[in-house]
Amino acid sequence: MIAADLRSGVEQLGDMIAAASTIVPFTGAGISTESGIPDFRSPGGLWTRNRPIPFDEFVASPDARDEAWRRRFAMEPTFAAAQPGRGHRALASMYKAGKIPAVITQNIDNLHQISGLPAEHVIELHGNTTYARCIGCGKCYDLAWVKQSFQTTGSAPGCTACDEPVKTATISFGQAMPEAAMRRAAELAQHCDLFLAIGSSLVVWPAAGFPLMAKNAGAKLVIINNEPTEQDDMADLVIRHDIGETLGPFVGN
Ligand SMILES: [Zn+2]
Repeated sequence: MIAADLRSGVEQLGDMIAAASTIVPFTGAGISTESGIPDFRSPGGLWTRNRPIPFDEFVASPDARDEAWRRRFAMEPTFAAAQPGRGHRALASMYKAGKIPAVITQNIDNLHQISGLPAEHVIELHGNTTYARCIGCGKCYDLAWVKQSFQTTGSAPGCTACDEPVKTATISFGQAMPEAAMRRAAELAQHCDLFLAIGSSLVVWPAAGFPLMAKNAGAKLVIINNEPTEQDDMADLVIRHDIGETLGPFVGN
């Protein structure tokens, strides 16, 4: 059912949140646009202007690695300045109230953690761009170290322990989905009584399968997104409004 207007949507959502004991939010790019993080997939977004570098190419080509890191450094002012929006803060409030065991996210911006969720309760399906990791041994690196090393040598650094390439801790195109995160997300989806899909167009599989999984396990499904999604038909409530406006009333509750 599509909410007639923002006010009735917020009211119905409030009733559903109050009635639920375990809420699992699933968030996409739309929750972070208020924080100034662009939606890479949107028309005119970064990925339509700049072809993403697939994982195989990153591994095989030093030039691709240099290019990937140059792009990431160019984005640093945007990511470094980003602060949680009303959507992030509302979910952090519900987490503190004990209603949310963890958040599942397609985002790589670290904003759920900054809003107050412990990292172990943020399930990142596409990884995290705010630090780097060796693709061989998994050793973690600060971006500042990568940048300094790049500036000193003129090329993307290898791991100090095993010499394999160091990459942002994100999941690139063609890279395997993180198995542990996928498993935890599936478990969360199947053990909640309210599933909130927020700011995702719900088209990227396998991540987009989680709302259906929750629904099949008996949860109520709410979809909050500016645009229609492919799964609106099966939702108990669809709120087609701005995420900050919709979740703002739940900040601090
Ligand atoms: Zn290594």
